[in-house]
Amino acid sequence: MVDAIVVLNAGSSSIKFSLFFDRGGELELDMRGQVEGIYTTPHFIAKSREGTTVSEKSWSGATQLGHDGALDHLIWFLRTELADKRLVGVGHRVVHGGLDFTQPVRVDAGTVQSLEKLVPLAPLHQPHNLAPIRRLLDRAPDVPQIACFDTSFHRTNPELAQRFGLPEELHAAGVRRYGFHGLSYEYIASVMPQFDAQAAAGRTVVLHLGNGASMCAIEASRSITSTMGFTAIDGLLMGTRSGALDPGVILYLLNQRGLDARAIEKLIYNESGLLGVSGISSDMRMLLASEDARAKLAIDLYCYRIRRELGSLAAALGGLDAIVFTGGIGENSAAIRERVCHDAAWLGVELDQSANAAGSSCISAPGSRVSAWTIPTNEELMIARHTRRILERL
Ligand code: ADP
Repeated sequence: MVDAIVVLNAGSSSIKFSLFFDRGGELELDMRGQVEGIYTTPHFIAKSREGTTVSEKSWSGATQLGHDGALDHLIWFLRTELADKRLVGVGHRVVHGGLDFTQPVRVDAGTVQSLEKLVPLAPLHQPHNLAPIRRLLDRAPDVPQIACFDTSFHRTNPELAQRFGLPEELHAAGVRRYGFHGLSYEYIASVMPQFDAQAAAGRTVVLHLGNGASMCAIEASRSITSTMGFTAIDGLLMGTRSGALDPGVILYLLNQRGLDARAIEKLIYNESGLLGVSGISSDMRMLLASEDARAKLAIDLYCYRIRRELGSLAAALGGLDAIVFTGGIGENSAAIRERVCHDAAWLGVELDQSANAAGSSCISAPGSRVSAWTIPTNEELMIARHTRRILERL
């Protein structure tokens, strides 16, 4: 009987799942899908690895399916799907592991309690990540569940890189730079030796450019610092998030504009970034296709922020051997990669334009001092690998 691992990634309005089979070698993706719009107009879809729809369901009218209802549907669907397989475990993406969770862990009720304490550090994500864990502990207590954290990969950051210029008491209370997108960076670090063994043993900056975006400085496969900090808003301009702001801007909004904390949160998380600057869209494809000067400004600022942060991360590394593009924009937009590489010419990046346009993995010219790569990320596979590894140890 084939072993199966389910990976869940629960957000505020959707639960995504992937189903992997373990036949001994690398885990094989069998299908993936999601229940989306779980508080508005719920819709479930599951697709095979090749992209064919395997199952689909809509709930009519405005149904409050919620996380529990969505998970119950997934359990029902997977039970049928896995009738002749053995479900060995469920891996979860959890945004925050704080200081203690430096590795993925098997969760029980006690672990959930510890992870709930981190909700104030990631109020927009952590509660949603924990909802399916709690439900599954209740509905299927015998199925091992493994939590994998977006912060863990960055726990190797030196103390100095984690420190804000704030009083000790706040630092001790956990107000420090954590870094996120760790599962994506860990995956890239794990495959990097196959692409460029020398750079993998040296200094690489990975650019994870999706709706959320960050960059990570990696030395010999270990994170040494990244552009995201205490929360997932720091650093680069993103789809709807502002990225780094002078903290004085927040004080101005509070004191002079009379915005309360909720309104500021909405502004900097949902109404800023590419969307806020362009006034058109958070979607890079739409901005690249637009003739509007505001779309151009948003793209210019996006690339300028990357240029500045790349210099900063290269300085933290003390040099640079490779850069890697990943995430929806990094993997798919030759135009953005071209601009970033041209901006990084001073660091020794020389682009191979035709390789970049053709979507090759290696996009740097043969003599380039710093190599440049496009490597699709695979956070789900990383979670499935962790889940298998931990289950083998049990
Ligand atoms: P998430 O962070 O939600 O997982 P993705 O990694 O899927 O998001 O990235 C979404 C972003 O990728 C969007 O801005 C989308 O416009 C962009 N994107 C996807 N395909 C392309 C493309 N061919 N050219 C430019 N941008 C693209």
